Amino acid sequence: MKKLFEPRYVEIGSQFLGGMGVLVVDGDIVEVGSVAELVANHPDAERVDWSRYALLPGTVNAHNHSFQSLIRGIAADEPFLVWRDEALYRYSPCLDAEMIYNGALFAFAEMMLNGVTTVADFFYIHDGGTQNDEAVIQAAKDLGIRFVMARTMYDWPGAPQSYQERIDDALRRTRELAIKYQGNQMIAIHPAPHSPHAASPEMIQAGHRLAKELGTPYHIHVAEEMFEVEEIIRDHGVRPVHFLDKLGVLDESMIAIHLVWLADAEIALLGQRKASLAYCPSSNMFLADGITKIPELLQSGVNICLGTDGACSNNRINVFEEMRMTSLLQKVRTLDATCIRATETYAMGTRHAGEILRLPIGKIEPGYRADFVALDLDDLSLHPSSPELLLSHVVYSMQPTAVKRVVVGGRVVVRDGELQTVSNERVRKAIAAVQARFQAIAR
Ligand SMILES: [Zn+2]
Repeated sequence: MKKLFEPRYVEIGSQFLGGMGVLVVDGDIVEVGSVAELVANHPDAERVDWSRYALLPGTVNAHNHSFQSLIRGIAADEPFLVWRDEALYRYSPCLDAEMIYNGALFAFAEMMLNGVTTVADFFYIHDGGTQNDEAVIQAAKDLGIRFVMARTMYDWPGAPQSYQERIDDALRRTRELAIKYQGNQMIAIHPAPHSPHAASPEMIQAGHRLAKELGTPYHIHVAEEMFEVEEIIRDHGVRPVHFLDKLGVLDESMIAIHLVWLADAEIALLGQRKASLAYCPSSNMFLADGITKIPELLQSGVNICLGTDGACSNNRINVFEEMRMTSLLQKVRTLDATCIRATETYAMGTRHAGEILRLPIGKIEPGYRADFVALDLDDLSLHPSSPELLLSHVVYSMQPTAVKRVVVGGRVVVRDGELQTVSNERVRKAIAAVQARFQAIAR
């Protein structure tokens, strides 16, 4: 399959350039250059007229909990621990593999319609096996979204039973899944010890060791809420980042989620050790967590990507939205409109995520996967129209109505608001089926 995409503009190096084509062969970008030359050199390529569109990399949602889409709206406007107990802990124990599949279908479908082409799902309802994990993977496969399973390793006994695993079981199951999908271009498995408050020190070290063995990064929630920091200080005598350093797991393989409550020394240490952050600004606002110090973390050398977190703590799941939220929230925190630029938050939602997840995604460049979106240049949210203003518009003014095509691995998976793999109607039915089960449980 050889396709030549011919958009009005292509984003390359944070600039939108005209007259350029993108040649895709078997799901990868193989050449980017002038349309005239590409047509002359590849007369056999199928030409795709995107003259009304701007082409840019698909966005990467580096942190989500797909099943949480099913409980969106429940316990909104409540304090974090009330939200956790009434939404998460109440509903997640009754989810079986089919409901989890439906939840993943819902979450991934909505993201794809918003221009997400890769998602990392931090998944923890294992229920003593890998059947639920496979259900989530199946939903990603059916929809055609690129997928990273951050397979959670959880042994805090205060959580629902279905989350908890013994260390040896968590290790074995995560390793088996990772080996099963090794070499699969669409699916990767990363270890994800839940957090310093919900995984034991031994579980965290086991997750870190397994990531080294597999050659992957590992994901971990760190310092989202103030109470977590207080607990770690009470139990271990040091702040969370220093605690993780003492465990020997603070290095370039760490993808920390949140990092809201950090002391200056922790920010410096994260940079020194080349750790990464998956930043979820909307979720931090929704749950009243606090504000992560993004310019300071960037300054210290921490690489940053973006996540939506679960749809019941956001409640939109759209990475373009997180770019905007990142910029606005940091500007108001620092009272400095220059503290972060649209080009930086745009990079966090695209190519930095590729670097952090160690996948060839997030850039329109030969050697990268053909994952991209087409934005409708006629959409009023992208006006006044000019290639110089377009990147700023993408971050600050664009509405989801502008996303007209979504392509993953060279395949069009969204066309004019309709999924091309699983129908929108099928997704709505999947959601309704779970709702009916929830109502039966509530009765
Ligand atoms: Zn999370």
